[in-house]
Order: sequence, then structure tokens, then C-alpha cells
Amino acid sequence: MMNLRRWLLSLVMIMLLVAAPAPAKTFTYLTTTVEEIAASLPEKPVAVGFDVDDTVLFSSPGFYYAFSNTDGPNGTNKYGPKPLSSDLFWKDMSCDFDRFSMPKESAREIIEMHKKRGDKVYFITARPEVKGEILTRLLHREFKLEGQPAAIFSGRTSKGVFIKKHGISLYYGDSDSDISEAHEVGVRAIRFLRSPISTNKTKYNPGMHGEVVLRDSEN
Ligand SMILES: [Mg+2]
Repeated sequence: MMNLRRWLLSLVMIMLLVAAPAPAKTFTYLTTTVEEIAASLPEKPVAVGFDVDDTVLFSSPGFYYAFSNTDGPNGTNKYGPKPLSSDLFWKDMSCDFDRFSMPKESAREIIEMHKKRGDKVYFITARPEVKGEILTRLLHREFKLEGQPAAIFSGRTSKGVFIKKHGISLYYGDSDSDISEAHEVGVRAIRFLRSPISTNKTKYNPGMHGEVVLRDSEN
């Protein structure tokens, strides 16, 4: 009798193990602060780079409109079934909708630190290049930057190309590719966390490349 009960219990446990869904892969990581980053830098000014969407700007409002609008013919999406493949969307985003993008507080703090050091501050976005972008003006106004280079629209080119070209020694970004593309050219990268209500849920695995994560950078 005892043996049967034990056998049944084992069977149930095996079934539970088999049926349990594989947990999502998460990575452990170390976090860092503005003060620690400042202390790690050489005394002389350096060039640093920032990704834009979900790193320095909460730009989900424009992206949300892209996915959810019914402003096309007969109530369809005006950008078609794949808004992120629409040239019109990217033009609208970078030339107009960025008026609704909000600067992240964590980015303000980090950029302020770099500004005080006299560092050169680049912004590199993977958005496609468009004529008449308002992004540069907006970033420089919001983060009170003067005499800094225009935002770089890297499109399909690896950000590593621009990181190397401009001698950037520290790059910040929220996406897996921000970190990997900096690492590919041998440059240190620090991960920004995304806002939990960002429309972008892809390519986001903080710590997956062994990088440190900026504390409280969701906001
Ligand atoms: Mg981003």
C-alpha cells in the first residue's frame, strides 16, 4: 500500500515537472549609479554616446499612435499593417511626434554629470534618417546642451561604426543591440532600464552581455 502511494506521488511530481512552462530567461546583473560612473572616468573630458528611444526619451506616445491609429482609409492603420516598416511613420515620428516624447529623469542626471565634466555628448538612434528632424533640437533643448553634435540616425548600420568613428568611450542604451554593438568595437556600455509601459518589449534582456545596469533608470 505504502509503495503504491509513493509511486503515485512520484508520478504526480514527474507530471508537474514536465508540464511546468520553462521560466523566461533572466540574467543577474550589477547596478551602478551616476556617482560611480563619474568616479570611473578619466579627469580629461571624453566623448560619450546615448541611444534615444527608451534611454533618454520616453517616446512611446508616438509609437503607440503608430500601432493603434485607425486614421487610414476605411478606419485602417494609416501606416499599413507594419507601421515600423513605413517611411511615413518614421518621418512623422522624427519630424513631429517627438513633441510628445518625454525626457527621462535618469537621463537628465547622467547628461548633467557629463556636461559638467565638459564631455562631448552624442546621441545615436537606430531610426532611419529623415529630412527635417526635430529630434536634435528637442534633445539639446530638454537636456540644456549647447555646441554638441547633431543626433546621428544610424538606420541599418551598426551603431558600433559611429561609436568608433567619433571616439566614444562610453555608450548608454536600453536595447540588447545597444550593448552588443558597443562591445563589438571594444567600448564600455551601460544599460538603461525601460519604462514598464514602453510600447517596445523586444530585444530587452538587461545583463545578458555582462553589462552593468544604471540604477532607477526606468524613469
Ligand atoms: Mg532604445
